[in-house]
Parts: sequence; C-alpha cells; structure tokens
Amino acid sequence: MLKVSKFGGSSLASAEQVRRVCDIITADPGRRIIVVSAPGKRDNQDIKVTDLLIAAASQRLMGKIGASECAEVIERYRGIASELKLPPEVMDSIARDLTERLENSTTDTDLYMDTMKAGGEDNCARLIAQVLQARGVDAHYVNPKDAGLLLSDEPGNAQVLPEAYNRLRDLHERPGITIFPGFFGYSKDGNIVTFSRGGSDITGAILASAVRAEVYENFTDVDSVFAANPSIVEDPVPISELTYREMRELSYAGFSVFHDEALEPVYRAHVPVNIRNTNNPKADGTLIVPSRTSTDIPVVGIAAMDSVCCIYLSKYLMNRQIGFGRRLLQILEAEGISFEHVPSGIDNMSIILREENLSAAKEKRIVEQIRQTLAPEDIFVERGLSLIMVVGEGMRHTVGIASRATGALADAKVNIEMINQGSNEVSMMFGVKSEDMESAVQALYAEFFDS
Ligand code: ASP
Repeated sequence: MLKVSKFGGSSLASAEQVRRVCDIITADPGRRIIVVSAPGKRDNQDIKVTDLLIAAASQRLMGKIGASECAEVIERYRGIASELKLPPEVMDSIARDLTERLENSTTDTDLYMDTMKAGGEDNCARLIAQVLQARGVDAHYVNPKDAGLLLSDEPGNAQVLPEAYNRLRDLHERPGITIFPGFFGYSKDGNIVTFSRGGSDITGAILASAVRAEVYENFTDVDSVFAANPSIVEDPVPISELTYREMRELSYAGFSVFHDEALEPVYRAHVPVNIRNTNNPKADGTLIVPSRTSTDIPVVGIAAMDSVCCIYLSKYLMNRQIGFGRRLLQILEAEGISFEHVPSGIDNMSIILREENLSAAKEKRIVEQIRQTLAPEDIFVERGLSLIMVVGEGMRHTVGIASRATGALADAKVNIEMINQGSNEVSMMFGVKSEDMESAVQALYAEFFDS
C-alpha cells in the first residue's frame, strides 16, 4: 500500500514534534512519500517560519536588511537540529541556504518573495531527511524541480500544470522514503513559485494523485474535522466520514483544516484523504471519500465565512433585458474581481464578493460604471456580511431542511439577508449580518446536531 503523508507546520514546530513525525513515518512501511510544511507555531504567541521569512523579504524589498527575521528562522532550525543531535554540517547548510536566499537579487520582487517563502519548506524537508537518515532509515530529500512539479507562473498563487502529473508519477518507483517540500514548485522558466498560503496540502494532493496513492494522509493538530468551528460551538461533534463535495463546501466557507484547492487533484484520481492528528496518531481521524456510506445524517457541518459584501441592484423588467447579467459581470471582470455568488430575483440581482476584493476605490468605480451602463433604479453596497453554509449530501433526500434551518435562525432572532441553494443541494447558504454570525452558527448547530 502506497501512502502519501503530509505533515503540517504545527506537526514540525519543535524537535519533539519532529521526533513524533519521524516515529509516525517509520511506523508504517506504506508511508513512502512524505510532504512537509515549514515549522509552524509552537504556541499562540509564536510566529510561523513562513511569516518570519515573509517579514525578512519585505524588509529587504523596502531597502532594509531583514537580517534579524532571517536570523530568527535560522535559530528555529538550529534549535530543532541541536536537540536532535544532528551533525553541525546540517545546520551550516541550512543557514547558508537561508542567508543566500535573503541576499538574492530583489529586482524581480515576486520571484524574490516566493524564493524566500519556499525556504521554509525546502529546509524543513532537508532536515527531516537528515533526522531519518540519522535513525538509519533510507530517506532522501527530493527537490520539486527534479521531480517535475511544474506550476503556472503566478507567484504566491500558482496552480499545477497538467504535464506535472506524468513527471511526478516516477516518484512511485523511487526506493526508500521520499521527503518532499510542500508549498512550492517551478514555473516553465525554472523559477520558484509558491501556491497560496497553506499550500503544502496542495502539494500532497498533487503527489497522491500522480502516484495513485491508496490514501493521502494529512497530519495536523486536531483529531478530526468537527461539525462546526470549536471557537464558536462548544465541543462540536467530530465527523468521521465526508465526501469531497462536502469538504469542498466546508473548506470554502472557513474550515481551515484542509486547503480547499487541495481537493481537486485527489477528487479526480479518487484518492481518499485521511485527516489525522500527529499528537494522537491512534485516532482514526476524518476520511474524505467520493461517496459516503451513511447518508442518513442529512447535515454534516455548519461553516461560516466572514467579511463578505454584496452589491445589490434592481431594475424594473430586468428579466426581459438580454445580456444584463453579462454586462454587469463584465464590469467586475474589468476590475479583476471574481465573485462568489449571484442570487437574483425577477427585477434584482445581488453579487456577493469577498470584502478584501472590493477596495473603496474599486467600489466607487464599479458603482459608477453600473449606473452608466445599466441604469439601475436602485444600487447599493452592503458590507459587514457573513455567509453561513449548512452542508450535507443527505439534504438532497430529506424534506424540510430549509424549514428547520430558517426556523432555527428565526428563533435565534437572526435576520436572513439572503438565501442561496445550488442545484446540487450539497449546501444551503444564508447571508446574515456579521454581528449575527456566531448566533446563526450556534442556532443551526443546535438544530441539526443537538437533538
Ligand atoms: N508554510 C506555508 C504557510 O504557512 C505553507 C503551508 O504550511 O502549507 O502558508
């Protein structure tokens, strides 16, 4: 059985965690392809290595030196390497690599930033390979360029190129244990490019799909995916099994345990994903599969996404105007904005966007453009909204979910600003004011899980 196992930043934050990770790797001969993040936070006050590297790079890009942030990163690795009694050469080469990255040319700012960011994962993978070798294990660091992880040339937000899969397939044949850094790959020009933040999940998913792994294990710091955010709902129930579609909806709307872009590669190759806890490897975790065996539970989770806004417009007889929607969306496209949802009525349309995508200046331009091109009777922008998603494949076969959900929100005195349900019926979305977000999630959780 070939497993691809990915370990997140909190699993690699200290020497003790690294030891645990190596124990987990060697406990199962199927774990032959290992993807690692950069060391994460050791406690709430701590700073992730990636954030330190971004801070160092930003300093340099502002014409400063960035040496203290870089030194902090080197210290993080040194702490781990010395506690694990690795030979000094290991640490020397990590320190040299990070210093070289810092001193690279900053002419191409995107390339400079991505090269710095990638240093966290790259050095962590080298370090883990060394720790395993010191234990007598046949483990080897593999560079994403040599392995063929080709990505689109979109710094900080790259996507895998289709041809990468064929190249990566050879990893299957590599003897011993492959230690592969997450989060970055190479453009066709040979430059380092990173995925969006949290992107090591994506690397693991791509490798699992390329080698057709039996399972993609994603080791993190929780026992499973829970039915609601534990900081909003006390002691939410764990979810033992989820479909890809359910996980996609939940991670889209704020379940940060698994990167939402990481589902696509495994979904296509039908590789199940097992979310597991490095600190409790005996727990079964959550399994993400193509279809669930138990669909008797109509709702699996309640997610909430904050900081959304809505452009609302109405125009009498909008439904008779051919091309109205296209012209409206074209205005957003021209501003480089992607929209989230477009709920509509006969004479009105709402466009839901992430607030971060609509600066005050863009809002002004867009509203002006809409007024000129489409002459709506009414147009306004509402900020400070949240989207609440009730997710579950079983909803399709169950009558009355919408009525239970709206009833629960009404009882909690939450005003519903909008409702949207896709025709696939995997989720139902409610737009509420941000101040009502927590009460909405709590009310829906109580309705579907407490009874
Ligand atoms: N280290 C990167 C980040 O913090 C990628 C990852 O951990 O998956 O975003």
